[in-house]
Parts: sequence; structure tokens; C-alpha cells
Amino acid sequence: MVAKIIDGKEVAAKVREDCRQRVEALGAFGTRPGLAVIIVGDNPASKVYVANKAKACSEVGLNSKVHAFPAETEEAEVLRLIDTLNHDPSIHGILVQLPLPPNYNVRRILETISRDKDVDGFHLYNVGALAVGSSIFPPCTPYGVSKILEHEHIEVAGQNVVVVGASNIVGKPMALMLMQKDATVCICHAKTRDLAQFTILADILVVAAGRPNLILPQMVKTGAAVIDVGINRLPNGDLVGDVDFDGVSQKASHITPVPGGVGPMTVTMLIENTVQAAERFVGIKG
Ligand code: NAD
Repeated sequence: MVAKIIDGKEVAAKVREDCRQRVEALGAFGTRPGLAVIIVGDNPASKVYVANKAKACSEVGLNSKVHAFPAETEEAEVLRLIDTLNHDPSIHGILVQLPLPPNYNVRRILETISRDKDVDGFHLYNVGALAVGSSIFPPCTPYGVSKILEHEHIEVAGQNVVVVGASNIVGKPMALMLMQKDATVCICHAKTRDLAQFTILADILVVAAGRPNLILPQMVKTGAAVIDVGINRLPNGDLVGDVDFDGVSQKASHITPVPGGVGPMTVTMLIENTVQAAERFVGIKG
């Protein structure tokens, strides 16, 4: 079997087009969705992510504003800005780029964001809402994976799903979302013994560990859909996922490439969440 290679850029373009139309419709209410992005310090990867988010937002017609602080900024100053943004009617979404400087209390920062503007979905309210299946802003990366599965008409209900990786931003919310869609979900992590005995059972295998070549063909069931969230930079400069793409694509039914698979969906779902926040603000969505 040779897998269908899922084009994440194509799925992202469809979602962005839908967002563009919703942004236009919001114009009738005199509202343009606004996203504020806060970055503290000069982590090079974070700077690239923030620039990409701002660019993608403006392409869809959102208003985005980046607030960049030097690493030595007091946490209190960032908390004051979040409070101001919480009350700013032109801002519908607030995102704090992680990681923050080590002396910051990340939970306190995230809990200060209004839950109505928490477009990254990291506020405890939204985390809890996801656990009981009434999430307003699902975290962007697993939300993007859900959209990919939907777009590819990959049935989730009743399927065996194995999620490799149990982080708060990808693995755990991914597992919750797919459980909500009636999959039978198993979560594996770095302490899982004999990973292959779990992955081989998966009809849908989602991998988010940050380990190149973690998933080899013999660990994958023939015909499984394999979603590779991992992003790893090899010493030679190549960007790869966590899955042995060449080997596994001979066995799976579907596979996402890296780059060009899940990556383009993450920023797209941030746009979608911000549009949704603006729709809730004007009262056209509950
Ligand atoms: P993390 O380091 O917070 O968590 C990694 C998880 O993988 C942990 O639960 C850990 O126990 C597990 N793990 C590590 N080694 C393992 C092993 N050998 N076997 C099984 N499990 C193992 O990372 P994260 O933030 O969840 O990100 C995971 C990967 O996804 C990274 O490569 C990251 O760059 C990528 N990522 C991609 C996107 C995207 O938009 N495509 C977004 C977020 C993260």
C-alpha cells in the first residue's frame, strides 16, 4: 500500500478562505478581528513563529499587533499589558508566545488572559472545557490535526487512536479531542515500555514526541492514517518529523509530510480561533 500524502497547505488554504469570508461578514458589524501577540526575550525560533503568525493574520484580513519585550522585562509589566488588552474592544484574541523567561510564572500569565480572548486555548478554563467536551478555543495544533482528519474524511468514531506524546499543548488535548469524537484512545510517552506494541494497534497514529525516526514501518499497522506533528532539525539542516516518512508511507493509508503537513494548520487554527472570538464578541456565535 502506498499512502496518500496529505497536503496540509491545501487544507489550511480552505480553512483560511472560510475565515476570510467570516472576516468580511464581521465588517457589517463594524468589527475587524484583532489579535495581540506578546513575546518576551529574543528566542530566534519564537521570533520566526511570531512573524509568521502576524503575516498569516494580515493575509486573512485580521488586525494583528505584536508586543515585543526584552528578556529582562518584569513579569508585572506583561501582566499589566494583558489586563489592558483584556479590556480593549479592538482586540479579540491574546496570545503569549512560549517559552517565557525562566523567572516568569507561566501559569499566572496564562490565567490572566481573559478566557474569552484565550485563542491559544491554554487558560485553565479552556483546558477544563476541553476535558468535558465544551471547548470554545481548542489548542491550535491538535485542532489542526482534527481538521485534517475531517478534511480527509478519515472516520474517527470507533477507531483505535494512539497518540505518541503527552504534552499539555499537543498530546493531551489531542487525545481529549479524539476521545470526544468517540475514538478509543491510548496515550504513549517517554516512559511507555515497548512503544511498538501500542502503535501497531492504531488505525490513526498521531505522533508528537520531537524524536526523529521514532516511528518505523514495523511499528505501524497496514492501512493506518499517520499524522506526524514532530518538527526536528537534523545536524545537516534538514527539517524532519518523528516518523520514518519513506518507510511508513509504503504501509499507511494516509501520511502527513514534514514540512507541509500539520505545520501550516497550527497558525491557521489560531486565525480561526481569533475569528471565532470576534464572532462571539459581536454576538453571532455562542
Ligand atoms: P514536549 O517536549 O513538550 O513533549 C514531548 C512528548 O513526547 C512528551 O510527552 C514525552 O514524554 C514524549 N516522548 C519523548 N520521547 C519519546 C519517546 N522516545 N517515545 C515516546 N514518547 C516520547 O513537546 P511538544 O511541545 O508536545 O512537541 C512535540 C513535537 O511536536 C516537537 O517536535 C515540536 O516541535 C512539534 N510541534 C509541532 C507543531 C506544529 O505546528 N507542527 C506544534 C507544536 C509542536
